[in-house]
Amino acid sequence: MIERTLCLTGGAVEATIHAVKHGGITGNMAGGTHHAHRDFGSGYCVFNDLAISAMYAIEHLGVKRVAILDLDVHQGDGTATILSNENRTRTISVHCSTNFPFRKSVSDFDLPIEPNSGDVAYMEKVQEAVNLCLEFEPDLVLYQAGVDGLEHDHLGKLNVTREGMRTRNQYVFEEMLNHRIPTVIFMGGGYSKPIEHTIDAFYDLFIDASIWTQRW
Ligand SMILES: [Zn+2]
Repeated sequence: MIERTLCLTGGAVEATIHAVKHGGITGNMAGGTHHAHRDFGSGYCVFNDLAISAMYAIEHLGVKRVAILDLDVHQGDGTATILSNENRTRTISVHCSTNFPFRKSVSDFDLPIEPNSGDVAYMEKVQEAVNLCLEFEPDLVLYQAGVDGLEHDHLGKLNVTREGMRTRNQYVFEEMLNHRIPTVIFMGGGYSKPIEHTIDAFYDLFIDASIWTQRW
């Protein structure tokens, strides 16, 4: 458990350093531990790698503004709370209104979606979230790309298709590349039954990231 937690957090920081130094899209094939608070863990999350990476980039890498774009089906409550008094970051969370955490924190921008929403309603919120992200003019984007909004997900209550999830990712990559904003992917959640649907969606995420980053 300790080794896993350290690898996950270290991987997030490494990916952040790489993105800031070289640009493009980088990623950690783990993490996105957005439920961890400053002084306690929650919802499978021990340390909050998003908040750690954001503050590391600001304090050690000369980054001025970091946007955290959290599109996991669950609200990024820990990230929101840890960074609530930090005006060099902007936390944006798109999530299902009835999913965990049941007592929501206050992000800089919360965009809840009703349960059972499908691709169209989801993409509308994603576009709104991306616009809020770009409006902040960040030097770095941390993208929590959880795929637990999938229709087959056991925990998530949205009905997004594999294709819809892929469209989401490609839209984020396209916008960040067009605006030349280095972007770090944090894996986030995925709990499909059977698990193959989750694996397919993460496969799409990282393969598409590798294709899009070649255009940096
Ligand atoms: Zn989640």
